[in-house]
Amino acid sequence: MDFMYYGDILVVDLEAGTTEEVEIDEAWEAGPVLPAALELFDKHAQDDPLIFGSGILTGTTAPASCLGFALGASPITGGPAVAPLNLFAGAEMKLSGFSMVLIKGNSPGPVYLWLHDGVADLVDASRITGKDTWQTCDAVRDEMGEQLIQVISIGPVGEAKSDLASFSINYWGSGDNAALGALMGAKNLKAVALRGLGMIDAEDPEEFYNRTMGLLPGLPSEKSFDWAFEGLGEGGLDAWLGPLVHRYRSCFACPCACNTFVKYNEDPAVMGSDGVQEPGLMVTNPAAALWLGQGGWSPEGASRAMEAMARAGVDVVRGSREISAEPLEAPGEIAAAVEALTGPAEAAWPPGEGPAEGGIFGPWTPPSSSGDRWLEVNRAAYVLGVCPLFLAASGVEREDLLELCVPAAGIKLDAGGIKEMFDRARA
Ligand code: SF4
Repeated sequence: MDFMYYGDILVVDLEAGTTEEVEIDEAWEAGPVLPAALELFDKHAQDDPLIFGSGILTGTTAPASCLGFALGASPITGGPAVAPLNLFAGAEMKLSGFSMVLIKGNSPGPVYLWLHDGVADLVDASRITGKDTWQTCDAVRDEMGEQLIQVISIGPVGEAKSDLASFSINYWGSGDNAALGALMGAKNLKAVALRGLGMIDAEDPEEFYNRTMGLLPGLPSEKSFDWAFEGLGEGGLDAWLGPLVHRYRSCFACPCACNTFVKYNEDPAVMGSDGVQEPGLMVTNPAAALWLGQGGWSPEGASRAMEAMARAGVDVVRGSREISAEPLEAPGEIAAAVEALTGPAEAAWPPGEGPAEGGIFGPWTPPSSSGDRWLEVNRAAYVLGVCPLFLAASGVEREDLLELCVPAAGIKLDAGGIKEMFDRARA
């Protein structure tokens, strides 16, 4: 695989405290994408692997090319489960200089993995053990002297290996609905920190750039969650969160912006950054807000609860489902309710159908479609490295994105070929 990836696969042996680079297997014609990770997962099953990687187009000028992945055995199901790395974590994963990272075994003491510009370090994490994900993110960035580092971390709930654990991305709740945060806790892996300034080569850079730019005029540039999920709850999430909304934020290279920053510790209209230090929360998972909204919570109470869960490293979707029936307002009571959360809780959807049972893709966001269609969207999304929500809801032609793989990496892909890759990996 010559294009769209660089560097070898990194193998991290937590028990031995070593890192080693190994060559990419040429049999993976589409590169070290998710099906290749599934093969690696099976091959190293005895070491309880946790694998991080990205898609072919991740980190490029392709629209919504923000997606990377984490793959490991879910402590809930025992089977392999995938969690998305969105926001800027997927792109930074690729730019860190490693095409895929295989983490084996358990560390005897707390560590975090620091990947930067093709260098991999295991760093003693005893100083940040017990800290919440916000404190952990700040501590890692301060220690490494760089505020743009993407920090995938666990809080006390992950360290306790609770089935309700989830890793966070920087300060915000992630789409880890499979308790991979508990797997990190079992490995004594407090965080994975990512930063890289690498350049990704396309096979035909000019053609690739022109084609991606040619797609832009036809793409939506919507904000909020409602554009993607028509009929989300009574009046939609936008109307419910509306009084608290400060701004919307996109993930890497996405022309839309559904991540919704809400302020409840200062007036949402305050635009400057010289106000209170922690003014609110970025809502990244609409399913969590839906559970709480439909349970009768106020937007402020719900936002405080989602903040407490993201800080503690609780899966905001499953945690919200657990506490949704008893709306709370007082910050102290909300904090106590979140602290009292214990697993296990099923990952489940608000009213409506969820994805196919027993699949490797969890309910990160409420699907715009269900069952086989959602599975197909996810498979394409993870191979391409393009957000599945964007792929499902934006109206972008999937074929246009698949065709980008020719100037990008010299490979022809279609939906049938992607299905075959997954079937082969799981054979
Ligand atoms: S659609 Fe939303 S979640 Fe997906 S990449 Fe865009 S901003 Fe991120």
